[in-house]
Amino acid sequence: MIASVLPTYSRAPMAFDHGIGAWLVTTGGERFLDLGAGIAVNALGHANPELVKALTDQAGKLWHTSNLYEIPNQQRLADLLVEHTFADTVFFTNSGTEAAELAIKMARKFHSAAGHPERQKIIAFEGAFHGRSTGAIAMAGGDKMTKGFGDLMPGFVHLPFGDMAALRGAMGPDVAAVIVEPLQGEGGIRQVPDQMLRDMRAVCDAHGALLIFDEVQCGMGRTGKLFAHEWAGVTPDIMMVAKGIGGGFPLGALLATETAAAGMVAGSHGSTYGGNPLACAVGCKVMEIVAEPAFLAEVNRKASLFRQGLEGLVASHPDVFEEVRGQGLMLGLKCKVPNVDVVKAGYAAQVLTVPGADNVIRLLPPLNIEDADIAEAVARLDVAAQSARPAG
Ligand SMILES: *Cc1c(COP(=O)(O)O)cnc(C)c1O
Repeated sequence: MIASVLPTYSRAPMAFDHGIGAWLVTTGGERFLDLGAGIAVNALGHANPELVKALTDQAGKLWHTSNLYEIPNQQRLADLLVEHTFADTVFFTNSGTEAAELAIKMARKFHSAAGHPERQKIIAFEGAFHGRSTGAIAMAGGDKMTKGFGDLMPGFVHLPFGDMAALRGAMGPDVAAVIVEPLQGEGGIRQVPDQMLRDMRAVCDAHGALLIFDEVQCGMGRTGKLFAHEWAGVTPDIMMVAKGIGGGFPLGALLATETAAAGMVAGSHGSTYGGNPLACAVGCKVMEIVAEPAFLAEVNRKASLFRQGLEGLVASHPDVFEEVRGQGLMLGLKCKVPNVDVVKAGYAAQVLTVPGADNVIRLLPPLNIEDADIAEAVARLDVAAQSARPAG
């Protein structure tokens, strides 16, 4: 008999009752150190008092009005995002996938409104993850996500990761946009080098195509800058944000320049829940905290501490780990044994990590993880590595 919850997830056999900071406590009272943070979502840790207050204060006043009316929290969050980024305008969603959908629509509409409806093609890269809607799976490509779901939305081109020659060759008068995660998450913590991001910007500019960054996982302070692309000194035309921006409350956003958003006029897009007062109350608080230069400096300091510890693990477990990858607190350990074995050994050592493609385990702790918890994380990963060691 089918499970009452649709069996699309292969879950670990544990359930959590509450959390505090970087720790999760099971219904049975066991404490786990959470280096997954809900897949880069709980950016400020569990039960963060400031976020709890922002949410509960708003919960006692107003949850939902619809986008038929002005939503002051939404306006404030949009202003904050515009103030701190390349963007001139923001649309709020409930997830990264919805932001991906709008990115597709906006890019095509931009060209259509400019008199070029034939410019529909969107170029993406192998290993990408942009969400689970029919549009997002067609955009990211890959058998694992698309197989069996019938005819896919046309107009997407998939190139090898990091292949600039292929990108130059694929450019043409039918291309609407190029989409890339500056640092791939699901793809296995694979980073696009800064120079390559700059080259992508130049190629798009030369061909009048829009550049879309998917910063759903690598954005919101995760890499030590508010957004990962800031390290490369280039800006996109359109950017997807979600995960960390809600600190655990469902919230996403699509950011764009005024030019890129030119086609999106009244009635061309909408959402019932997107940008609701509750989500935006939390989002404002997250932005206020994470956009602070002092906070980001701390992320970088903690990141180098953590990275040092991880480099030590690679050195002491050369049969288990190959290398440390990533930037800031978006780190990966490329494994030599099956990554899921290391994740499982972590469960036994009461430390939570997240598997990624390319046989990587992802380490995405809360951005405000305590130094002592970083030391504890390295110690527990050491225990996990011991037991994941290949036999013999
Ligand atoms: C998680 C993720 C998405 C999809 O976000 P959802 O909120 O799960 O819809 C899109 N892009 C990237 C890079 C992601 O990591």
